[in-house]
Amino acid sequence: MATLSETFEKLTQHLKRIDRLSSISELLAWDEQVNLPSGSAGLRAEQASLMAELTHKESSSLALGQWIDRLKAAEAELNPAQQAILRDARRNYREATCLPSAFVRRRSKAHSEGFQAWLRAKEAGDFQAFLPSLKTNIELAREQASLLDASDPYSYWLDQFDPGLNQATVEQVFAPLRADLKVLLNSIQTAPVEAPSFSLKGFPVDRQEAFLREVVTAFGFDFKRGRLDRSVHPFCGGHPLDLRMTTRFDPDNPLDSLSSAAHECGHALYEQGLPKEHLGTALGQAVGMAVHESQSRLWENQVARSRAFWQAWEMDYRAHFPTQLDGLNSEQLYFQINRVAVTPIRVDADEVTYNLHIMLRYELEKQLIGGALDPADLPEAWNALSIEILGYEPKNDAEGCLQDVHWSGGAFGYFPSYCLGNVICAQLWETIQAAIPRLDHQIASKNYGPLRHWLRTQVHSLGRQYLTQDFVRKVTGTALSHEPLMRYLRERYGSLYRVG
Ligand code: ZN
Repeated sequence: MATLSETFEKLTQHLKRIDRLSSISELLAWDEQVNLPSGSAGLRAEQASLMAELTHKESSSLALGQWIDRLKAAEAELNPAQQAILRDARRNYREATCLPSAFVRRRSKAHSEGFQAWLRAKEAGDFQAFLPSLKTNIELAREQASLLDASDPYSYWLDQFDPGLNQATVEQVFAPLRADLKVLLNSIQTAPVEAPSFSLKGFPVDRQEAFLREVVTAFGFDFKRGRLDRSVHPFCGGHPLDLRMTTRFDPDNPLDSLSSAAHECGHALYEQGLPKEHLGTALGQAVGMAVHESQSRLWENQVARSRAFWQAWEMDYRAHFPTQLDGLNSEQLYFQINRVAVTPIRVDADEVTYNLHIMLRYELEKQLIGGALDPADLPEAWNALSIEILGYEPKNDAEGCLQDVHWSGGAFGYFPSYCLGNVICAQLWETIQAAIPRLDHQIASKNYGPLRHWLRTQVHSLGRQYLTQDFVRKVTGTALSHEPLMRYLRERYGSLYRVG
């Protein structure tokens, strides 16, 4: 009989094999959004479905189950890192074996077709064209939760993206946050300060790209093991050894490509910072989507929207766009970057209203998955809640319920991760500021080394050793809380709008 360490070695080798298979699916998904001719979508759906089937076969193999059982029986003899690997492997194995391959195939095909249907529906502003796919995806999401014996399907989906979280834990953070944000937004909207009415227009795309490449290189993105391309919806995918991030460009909205690139770069730095020797196992993976989002938000907001960052980069920015920025002084530029205004589109939202966009989606998907909301009534429900939460009524479904890609690919329970990411980011930021007293000076001189080093050693190197809430407690010394985020927002935006 094999020794315990031999069995553990077999387990990790097999997990790495699954990781390589998943990385091929990731590459196909990246290609679908960056390169794929529209007429080839059918073939891609079949390819993705076949890859999902192969991955599922490896993830549910009998041998894998036997190694897991053997290690579980001797768990006390494993060290904490090995226990974390085993815990994650067991969880994934259970997922894989409780889902029949026919279901996995059906789900993969539905998600791929859903994405194409959503693209067409959004372009035509026609919700009815997306409704059948939405219904199918909701049914599949419920079916999956029930195959896994989940008592509450929506909590099951929250836990899929952020291990250990459920409706109650999310509600505990969201309820007070929503109330506090409304107060802050109201005071900003009634502040006596007027944002400058300068519009940023005619920023050549190639110069935008040159500038943001300089920025992400300075942040530490490793171009030897990654690429930056263009897609409709910016994302960061691929594998830690082959990172694929994307952005998009609009000559009349230059700050969008910049903040998107800083955001995706934060995701990429996390992935590139995971311990290479553990890739494929829990120790070489992100904690979950909320912690992932905390990393992207940190570089996008805490860093790239700060006065210190712009102190360092303003001259370069003006050198790229001398005529476009003519007539706008430093303070006005900073105001442009940080202005707070309700916009219908989530991805265009500022830091204050962004979280309210998430509250809107959180309420609706909770009802869709729970069965309280008929998918056919989504546009009406969306618009009503948008008025209540954001004070804005969408003019059509393209700027309402069709704006996001997520539900088209069956990603329910994912939206809360964005807001929880902001929450965790603010908690980390307070910890970092205490640990690096000269952080502001360093950012003001484009010196991101100490910040990156802190994140590498305190966050990235941990992999998925801890579940989301334990991770927050371990790294920040405090429980998951909305208060640091409110302190941060009140400080940055209160001082900008001279309120509070
Ligand atoms: Zn993100």
